[in-house]
Formats: sequence, C-alpha cells, structure tokens
Amino acid sequence: MRSPSVNAIASREARVRARTSGSLERYQRSVKSLAGGVSTSVRRAARPYPLYFDHGSKAHIFDVDGNRYIDYALAWGPLILGHAPPEVAARVAEHLNRGFTFGAQHELEIEVAERLVSLIPCADQVAYANSGTEIVQVALRLARAATDRPLYLKFEGHYHGWDDSVLVSYRPTPEAIAQWGDQPVPVGAGQRRISDAVVAQWNDVASVERAFRHNQGDISAVICEPLLCNSGCIPPAPGFLEFLRELTLREGALLIFDEVITGFRMALDGAQGFYGVTPDVATFGKAVGGGMPLSVLAGTAQYMDLIASGKVVHSGTFNGNPLALASAAATIDILARNNGSAYREMWRLGERLRTGMESILRQSGFSVVTSGGGPVFQLSLMSRPATNYREILAADMTAYSELVMALLDEGVMVLPDGRWYVSAVHTDSDIDETLAAVRRAAEA
Ligand code: PMP
Repeated sequence: MRSPSVNAIASREARVRARTSGSLERYQRSVKSLAGGVSTSVRRAARPYPLYFDHGSKAHIFDVDGNRYIDYALAWGPLILGHAPPEVAARVAEHLNRGFTFGAQHELEIEVAERLVSLIPCADQVAYANSGTEIVQVALRLARAATDRPLYLKFEGHYHGWDDSVLVSYRPTPEAIAQWGDQPVPVGAGQRRISDAVVAQWNDVASVERAFRHNQGDISAVICEPLLCNSGCIPPAPGFLEFLRELTLREGALLIFDEVITGFRMALDGAQGFYGVTPDVATFGKAVGGGMPLSVLAGTAQYMDLIASGKVVHSGTFNGNPLALASAAATIDILARNNGSAYREMWRLGERLRTGMESILRQSGFSVVTSGGGPVFQLSLMSRPATNYREILAADMTAYSELVMALLDEGVMVLPDGRWYVSAVHTDSDIDETLAAVRRAAEA
C-alpha cells in the first residue's frame, strides 16, 4: 500500500489550522466550561480539533470562519434531507408558534404513527422516545417481559446506544478481545460489572447456536444492526438474517432489528424491507426525525400490547413532542413522494461516489474495499471485504485519518471511521467536486 508523504500530510493539516482559527479559539474557550469542549465523547477525537459550525444548507455545512464543506457526515446520520430542508423547517415553525411540547396528546402523534405503521413491515403499532439509546432499552425490556428471560444476544462490533446494558463489545481492541474472549467487554469506566449481554460474532451461525446452547432458555432476544453500519457497514451474509429469524422463532426469543441508522436511510421500509426479513420489533432513530430528536419502537401487536396494557413501562417527558413529530411528518412526506424517488436518487448518487472513489484510490495504489451502498456505505483501506467486526481491524486507520484530513482541506467533511452518508439533496456537482478532491488527495 502507498503511504502518504509526511510533508504532504503536514501541509494539509497546517492549511486546515490556518483557515479555522475561529474554531480553535472557541474550542479553547469551551473546554473551560464544557466537559471536554464537546457534547458527546466521540466528537473529541476530531482532527485537528473540533470545528465550530455556523449554519448548514442542503448538503453543505459552513464553519464559523466561513469555510464551506460538502457534508457526508450529516450529523452522524439524521440529515437524510440535508440541512434545514425548507419544507420541514416550515412545518416545524408552524408548530413552534403553537407550543413546544404539551406533555399530552395531539394530532401529529396519530398522523405519524399511522404513517409509520403503513410503511414499516413489522409495525402493527409504534411508540415514541427521543434517542436511539432510550428506545433500544424499551425494546429489550419488552423482550424480557414477553419471555420472562434475563439475557439477550448481541453481536461484537454492533452499537445499540450508550446504556451500560448494551455498551459492551463495541469495537473492542485486539488486546481486549485477547483478554475477554467472548465475554461482554465494557467500553468505558464506571459501567456495571454484570452485563445481561451474550456476545456472538456477526455472520457466524455457529457462534449464535453456541450462545443459545450455553444459555439454554435464558435468551430473551437477539438484537442486531441488520446492516452493520457502526463497524464497517458489513452486510448480513446471504441467509444470515433468515437464520436469525428462524432460530429466534424456534427458541421462543424475539428478533430485534436496531434500525436507528438503516431505518428511513436504506429504504422507506428500512433494512427489514430491503432484506425481506421481518423482525418482531425494530428501533428507529436518526433519519426518522429528519434532524430533530425522535426515536421509534415499531412492533407486532403481540409485543406492543405489553406497552399498550401498561405492563411494560415506557416513559419520557419529551416523548412524542410536536416539534420532533412535525419534522418527522414532513420528512416522511418528502421521502415517500413520487413512489420514493428520493431513495432512487440517493442510491444513484451514493453509488457514483462509492464506486468512483474506489477506482480512484485503487488507481493511486491504495488497497481499498467498500461495503454497504447508496445512502450509507463504508470506505476502508484494506485488501479484503470484512464479514465480521474482527476483520475490519485490518483496515489502515492511520492512512484513512490522513485521507479525512486531506478531504477536510479540500472542503469535504466525512466521519472519521470510514462511514459515508449521502442525503437526498446532494447533487451530481457535489459528487463531481468530491471525486476531484479525492483524486487530488490520493495523488498527494
Ligand atoms: N443504535 C444504533 C444502530 C446507532 O447507530 C445509535 C447511534 N449511533 C444508537 C442506537 C443510539 O442512538 P442515540 O445516539 O440517538 O442514543
């Protein structure tokens, strides 16, 4: 593999620093009063330092120094229609003037619920919360209540929010894997010592069967990201989701798809529609709110009845607030228009970008693998496609981090981990500009 020249890297970073002094100033001020200077741990890792933004418009985001970036981070996924889509903003504004939140019932709750039930294959009913983390907790609680079993099965490398119960075996280091083996590995300090997770390997039938055998009658649910977006956009191997469906039915456990990323991103009917496998319940977040905080639990009547009857507690002061639901209603309207033409466009542009970058980087001598596709895909500097989390550890993240820096210098903003999001408002000219930037970055 080619390694980027040290001088080229240094000058890229120096150029970005020279252009973003307003961000550095704010960051230095912020760390004095805001823990870490950022609002969520992962943003701390930004190079050269966390940037400060002034506004976004369509697929572009502008920092406080007036630099424009083509945005493929999209706030880590929610901005399926880009920044401040006028129709969505207008719908939210209408409700801003009628009250921010009621803590009580209103019409939009029904309108959006009916829409979701009509679109999501597993949805007889839905329930609302504000974040992906919360709604996953409701799903797991519901599975324990339905089965009267204490444990659940998750896959290594899959992310289901920051609660202690699920923040295990998410991107463990090779050292942690060596130390913990298949035991749940806590991600940070202060987490509870006992986890109710049983960990298996993605796309590994034998590891799932073994987990069920070793925990006979104790596993309430299998939860997974149906396309493993949080660790390399690794797709399910042919037949793997079908295997999980069949096994959970046979074992009397629930199948939960965590569609916080894939929902309303891969397709209007989510990964479950895309792959044609229907779980018992599914969690949605990010794109469903079009940029406002909203998460959704969707499930079959058999399980949602546990919430409906009050047996399973589901709470939250801001649940179902009109501003988030106004944003969701408008976002879903736009996504569903013309028989989902927004998705055809996102897939077309995303595939142009994915395959274009792949061939440019290859021509420049890099080993490169892409996976996923269209609206969400992964670009990894490695030689073989991964089928599970451990295999993505082969990716050259140092070289990738230099590519991210070079692209930032070129006015293209991407996530640090290799994931790319494309919105319905990116254009061919954004893609042309990005491919030209990638070519210059790769050549340097
Ligand atoms: N599940 C998945 C698949 C996610 O990607 C995320 C967020 N990255 C979550 C759950 C947690 O969502 P939130 O950050 O809204 O709590």
